[in-house]
Amino acid sequence: MLRQPILMLARSQRVKSLVSAMPVSSGIVANHVPGETTADAVRATSELQEDGLYVTLDYLGEDTTDAAQADATVAAYKELLAELAAQGLAAKAEVSVKLSAIGQFLPESAGFGGGHKIALENARDICRAARNAGTTVTLDMEDHTTTDSTLSILRELRKDFPETGAVLQAMLHRTEADCRALAHEGSRVRLCKGAYLEPEDVAFTDKTDIDKSYVRCLKVLMAGQGYPMIATHDPRMVQIASSLASRHGRSPGTYEFQMLYGIRPEEQRRLAAAGETMRVYIPYGTEWYGYLMRRLAEKPQNLTFFLRSLISK
Ligand code: FAD
Repeated sequence: MLRQPILMLARSQRVKSLVSAMPVSSGIVANHVPGETTADAVRATSELQEDGLYVTLDYLGEDTTDAAQADATVAAYKELLAELAAQGLAAKAEVSVKLSAIGQFLPESAGFGGGHKIALENARDICRAARNAGTTVTLDMEDHTTTDSTLSILRELRKDFPETGAVLQAMLHRTEADCRALAHEGSRVRLCKGAYLEPEDVAFTDKTDIDKSYVRCLKVLMAGQGYPMIATHDPRMVQIASSLASRHGRSPGTYEFQMLYGIRPEEQRRLAAAGETMRVYIPYGTEWYGYLMRRLAEKPQNLTFFLRSLISK
């Protein structure tokens, strides 16, 4: 019931400026975001890797309409990748990139053929830096208005960087077909349920329908030739994925589990200890507002905790 209003607030600039004054170290933010700087991200990476976990790092930011901001995001990823390589952490750390943070929404007037092309070139730059560091990039998926543009950028990037991964959201009606198209050899696909507020004509809005779609998509990916990345905290989905792995003779390492930083950490360690590849998504940076609101929408029980942190700031 609260999911819709919280997700609407996620895009409110007024609420964002109010809430963003809260320090990243305050309770609820710190539970989901380890810090604002490259050093914070590298420290979190090192700690998780010591526990046998893999990571993917997201320099927070989205929906930018400022070319300088997009350039700064690219620079932040390059700095991070160089630091991961320097510290010997890159083999078990990749990066996750939101195309709207690196220019997808820039207008035609920004030059270079507009937002789609700018995002493609910026993503190419990050993929090159990732390859130099010895690792890979996964393109996060945002709301359904960006899906075609994101998948088209993925196709372009994969010509030079075939290791680039994509994210598909089970809540969208189109996703089962997208899974079929991307279940080929060499294709890395992260399957998640979907975190955005979507209209009924393009998405399942009922939780049971989203879960059923997740299972259908999982079946396609696990039966396929690609590398499925199973991104969920849902114990049922983890169990179904494990059964599908056995059914298709997939050993750990031919697929992986993914969960978000700070969510079900004991389960993350349990799966890693059981021999599974378990990757933790680490968001970092100052632009944590939209990310935090999406997490609150998934677990409105945390709202009281969140409001208390706001009042005591
Ligand atoms: P839910 O249906 O939210 O929860 C199912 C069950 O999981 C709950 O009943 C509970 O048992 C357990 N659970 C869930 N949350 C918690 C919690 N906070 N604490 C304890 N137990 C919990 N979305 C996008 O739209 N685009 C992306 O690019 C994207 N990338 C992602 C990357 C990763 C690695 C992950 C894990 C998620 C990503 N998401 C992305 C978010 C995703 O779409 C979901 O919104 C989010 O993962 C919640 O869905 P769920 O599968 O965990 O299940």
